[in-house]
Order: sequence, then structure tokens, then C-alpha cells
Amino acid sequence: MTTSHYAEFERVTRQYHLLGSIESLLDWDQETCMPPRGVKQRAEQLALLAGLAHERLISDEYAAALRKAETNGRGDDWPSATNVREMRRRMERARRLPTELVRETAKVSALAKQVWARARRESRFDLFAPPLERLLELKRRAAELIGFEGEPYDALLDEYEPGARSADVAVVFDELRKTLVPLAAAIAKAPRRPDVALLSRYCPKEPQAEFCRRVAAALGFDFQSGRMDVSTHPFCSGTCPHDVRITTRYDERFLPAALFGTMHEAGHALYEQGLDAAHAGTPAGQSVSLGIHESQSRMWENFVGRSRPFWQHWFGPLTQQFTSLAEVRLDDWVFAINHVRPSLIRVEADEVTYGLHIMLRFDLERRLMTGKLAVRDIPQAWNDGMKSLLGITPDSDANGCLQDIHWSMGAIGYFPTYALGNLYAAQFFEAARAALPELDDQFRNGHYAPLLEWLRLSIHRHGMRYRAAELVQVVTGRPLSAEPFVRYLRGKFEPLCGLG
Ligand code: ZN
Repeated sequence: MTTSHYAEFERVTRQYHLLGSIESLLDWDQETCMPPRGVKQRAEQLALLAGLAHERLISDEYAAALRKAETNGRGDDWPSATNVREMRRRMERARRLPTELVRETAKVSALAKQVWARARRESRFDLFAPPLERLLELKRRAAELIGFEGEPYDALLDEYEPGARSADVAVVFDELRKTLVPLAAAIAKAPRRPDVALLSRYCPKEPQAEFCRRVAAALGFDFQSGRMDVSTHPFCSGTCPHDVRITTRYDERFLPAALFGTMHEAGHALYEQGLDAAHAGTPAGQSVSLGIHESQSRMWENFVGRSRPFWQHWFGPLTQQFTSLAEVRLDDWVFAINHVRPSLIRVEADEVTYGLHIMLRFDLERRLMTGKLAVRDIPQAWNDGMKSLLGITPDSDANGCLQDIHWSMGAIGYFPTYALGNLYAAQFFEAARAALPELDDQFRNGHYAPLLEWLRLSIHRHGMRYRAAELVQVVTGRPLSAEPFVRYLRGKFEPLCGLG
């Protein structure tokens, strides 16, 4: 490897990512503290940066630097092989999309977001149908230009989950569906039911904030390399492993929103803080995919944060912090935070039914991309799907096909990563348990460092060295399957609900 050629490629790559990190800081500012009337100026700032970044990536200079690094490199070097491979993929993808198409998509989706917000408010799908139709046309064109081996949907899925194929995802989802549908139905008829009213007891905001910060710090979130703020929709962003920012939201009549929202975002943040700072600004220092990212957030939120051993440690501090919960019993609390029931809204769904919401969207999106499903038939197809998967029918399109913002943003192919996250999480967690037999005792004592260290060594420090499917194979010794997640759900919910 000619060092100077590679060093030059790395330098321009880091510059490209610096632009992106400035964008994410501006986004964070917009969501957390920007005055509302600053939005116009902010949109111009973001558009300028996005344009500069895109131009750099598709420039002849960048192509030349990449080509020199490729021709002078050795294929298996770390981190150079990873960085070259990944930047080649991104550049090719970006170059296949004409600027006019990128601009048109941005414009249509900016408009579609506004229309969607109104359509959802008034529960009128007919308002949203025309911009959605237009967005799908643009997405079909993008898929053709990007190219795919299987079906058009693959080209879009690849943006969020590099290397994933719809057909493979469908096989895993089909396997999962066979368990989820009957399990959700059995739990709905189960003899034991939680007292969920205790979740809406009054918990003032300030103590919530204090408690959430304590939990996040205990899990391993480093406040010297991160912040926690408030936003309408919780998220995790940042600029590098030493500046990772999470947000949460407080509802004084529903403590779980902040509590589990914080653990979820902290899970994303632990991944970001665990990436190797020496590789920051290059793919070797970046996360694998949205699905792998989601595996980290869901592991900390659900596999750890909704487990009995976790609360054997935290229940004392919780009841001390909130007098309204003083009389509650540990088992009643654990049962209530694990309440399973079919519901209309994805973001409020429990661990068992969540995947079914995703399968519905995945199925509709694939059919929309091939044209087998017409936009005007979405409401009916949605309601039919809800009935067959969850046994309930939405009372309105607002609580049905209009509930999520993703389609209005043109984010087709994004939803599957949420469900993949659960599957990856379960498979990783089984491997972690095998490597760390004392895990439950450690949780009972409030010790999370062993699990975090295992995640850092097995997943975080590799950056984008492996594609998601390879990483699963390397870490667990097997390809991705729905079995570990099914085992996890049965092992947890059957005893909890008094089944079997
Ligand atoms: Zn997440």
C-alpha cells in the first residue's frame, strides 16, 4: 500500500464526513433549542451543506483519490479495505442518482410532509395520496438507476441495511409471524393481567429527569462525551464518539415514556460512544446499519431494561424517587411494564406485537414498489392486514395507514430495520449470555460493564468491517434467524402471563 495515496483518500473522506457531522449538529439544534422562526434559515444552511457533501462525494477529485487508494491497496488491510469498499459503495450509489432527481425528491418530500401532517390531523388519506403517488414514482426511478438483483425494493432497503435482500428478510419475517400471531392471541386471553393503571401515576418531571440520568450513567453512557436533552421525538445523534447526544421526553402521567425512551436512546449512544475514535470520520469508525443500531437500543431498553433482574436493583431507588409508586410491588411493576396487547399504533406496541406492525408495512411497501398495490387501495390493504395480523381494525386512517411519517419523507425501505433490530438483539444477547453466565446476577447488582465490554469487543470496535449478516455470523457463529427472538419471547411472556 502506498501510504501517501491512502492517506490522501482518508483525508478527503474525513472532510466529507465533517460536513455530515456539521449537518447533524444543526439538526440536533433544530430539534432541541432553535427558536421556531429560525426554521427558514436553518433549512437553507442544511440544504447548502447537503449539496456540498453530495458534490464532494461525486466529484472527479474524490473518484481519483478513491481509485488510487484502491489500486495501491491490499484487499484485506484493516481499516483501509473497509474504508475503500464502503466509500466505493456510497460513491457509486450517489453517482447513479442525477442531481435533478435528488433535488426533485427533496422538494416533493418537503411538501409531502406538510400534506401528510394535515391528512393525519383530518384523517383524510385522499389528501396524502397524490404526493405519495409522486414520491413512489421517484423512488421507483431511483431503484432502477441504483440497480438491484432481486426486486426494486432491494435498492431502497440497501440504503438503510447495506447488503440485505427483501427475499431473505421475508423468509425470516414469515418464520417469526408463525409465532407472534398465536402468541399475541394467547396472551390476549391469558388468565393473568397486569394492573397498567399504576403506570399512569403522577411522577413529576424533575425527579424523572434525575432518575433517567442516573440510569443512563449506570448503563455506561459517558456524560463527558455526551449530553441528554428534551425533544418532541426522542433521538440519538452527535458528531463523533466524544460528542454523542440523546434526547427524551417527559409525561408526568406516564413514566415509561421517559424511562424506556432514555434506555433506548442510551443504547444507541453506547454504540456510538463505543466506536473507535481513531477511525472517526471513516467507515471503520461508523455503525454497520440501522438494524444493527436498533439491536443495541432494543437490547438495553427491553432485554435489559424490562427484565426482572434489572428491576431487582432499580425498584428500590424508583419507589424512593416517586412517592406515588411507594406501595407498588416489584412483580406488579415488572408485569405492568411488560403489558402485551394488540394495539393500533406502532410506536406504542409491546415486544410481542411490534414485529407484526413492521411486517404489515414491509408487505405493503414491496407491493407498492412493484405496482401490485395501487396507492388508492392502501387504506383497505392496511385494515385487512391489521385484522389478519393483530385481530383489530383501525377506527380511522389517522390511526391506520397515516400514523407514521416515513412515507412522507420518502423513506421507503426503512421499516424492516426496526424488526431486524429485535432479531439481531436476541441473537447477540444469547451469545452474550453464553459468554457471560453471571449476567443476571450482574444486573441484580446494577453492573452493566461486563455486557457493555462484550458489546464493545464483539460489535462496536469493528465499525463497518462486516456487513450486518456477516457480523451476526462472526459474533454468534450462525446466520440470522428468528429462533433466538422466539425463544426470548416465549421464555419471558409465557410464565409472566401464566400460559402453558
Ligand atoms: Zn431506535
